[in-house]
Amino acid sequence: MTNPPSPRPHSGPSTSDGTAPAEELIRLTDVTKVFNSGRPNEFTAVDGVSLAVEAGRVTGLVGPSGSGKTTLASLMGCMARPTSGRIRLDLEVENGSSGGTAFPGGEVSSLPERFLTHIRRRAFGFIFQQFHLVKGLTALDNVMLPAYPAGERHHELRDRAKRLLATFGMAAKAASKVEWLSGGEAQRVAIARALINDPSVVIADEPTAHLDTSLSRELIAILGDLRAAGRTVIVASHDPLVTESGLLDRVIRLRDGRVEPPEPTDP
Ligand code: ADP
Ligand code: MG
Repeated sequence: MTNPPSPRPHSGPSTSDGTAPAEELIRLTDVTKVFNSGRPNEFTAVDGVSLAVEAGRVTGLVGPSGSGKTTLASLMGCMARPTSGRIRLDLEVENGSSGGTAFPGGEVSSLPERFLTHIRRRAFGFIFQQFHLVKGLTALDNVMLPAYPAGERHHELRDRAKRLLATFGMAAKAASKVEWLSGGEAQRVAIARALINDPSVVIADEPTAHLDTSLSRELIAILGDLRAAGRTVIVASHDPLVTESGLLDRVIRLRDGRVEPPEPTDP
C-alpha cells in the first residue's frame, strides 16, 4: 500500500517468551510530566512511567479520559519534553535533502528543540482526534504541509501527496477545500498527511472519536494496514470499538498518569 518506512529501527533486544522477536523502538524510563510546576494548579499528568514500544506492532494507550494518554503519546512523539525521566529512540533519522544522518538514535529528552523538531517531522506521523486540518486549503495542500521545508521538488512532493490520497480513495477530492469534506473524508486526509514524510511511527490520538461505527471500523483496518506495511503504531483510545477490535498487539492501561499492572488472567 505504502512504501516501507525510511528511518529504520536498529536491531534491539528480542523477547524470550516464544513470540516473534520484537525490537524496542521507544523506551521510557521513569518518565514524569508535570504541568504548571510550582503553581497552585500544579498537575502531574504522567507519573513515573517506564515502558517500551516495540517496532512493527500496534501499542494501545488505554484508559479513561484524563488518565494521561494524550500527554504520554505526545512525549513519545517528541512533541513535548518530560519533566523528569528519560526517553530513548532506537531509530535513525536522516537529514533532509542534504543526506546523511541527523540523529543516530539515542536519548531525546535533553536534545535541543531544533533536533526534536527534525526527529518529530521525519520519524513520526500524527493523526489527531480533531483532524487538525487547515481550513481554506485543499485536501492536497493539507497532505503536503508537513513536508515543508524538506527541499524536495514541489512537483515530486505533489505527486507523492496525490498518490497517498488515491491510496485512501480520495483522489477525486484532492482539490476540495477541507471544510467541504465529510468527517470520514477529513479523517482520510489526516491519515494521508500523517504518512507524507514516510514515518516509522504513526501516533493516533482518539482516532475514532468523531467517526461513526462503520468509519471507525475502516479506520481500524487502515491502522492494521500500516502495521502490515512495517510501521509502528501507537493508538491512544478509550473507544471499545478500538480496544476490542483485535488491532492492539499490546495494551498499556493508564490511570491517573500511571501504568496499571496487567489484570490477572483466569486460572
Ligand atoms: P487523556 O488523553 O487520557 O484524556 P491527557 O493526557 O489529555 O489525558 O490529560 C491528563 C491530565 O493532564 C488531565 O487532567 C489534563 O487536564 C491535564 N493536562 C493535560 N494537558 C495539560 C496542560 N497543558 N496544562 C495543564 N494540565 C494539563
Ligand atoms: Mg486525550
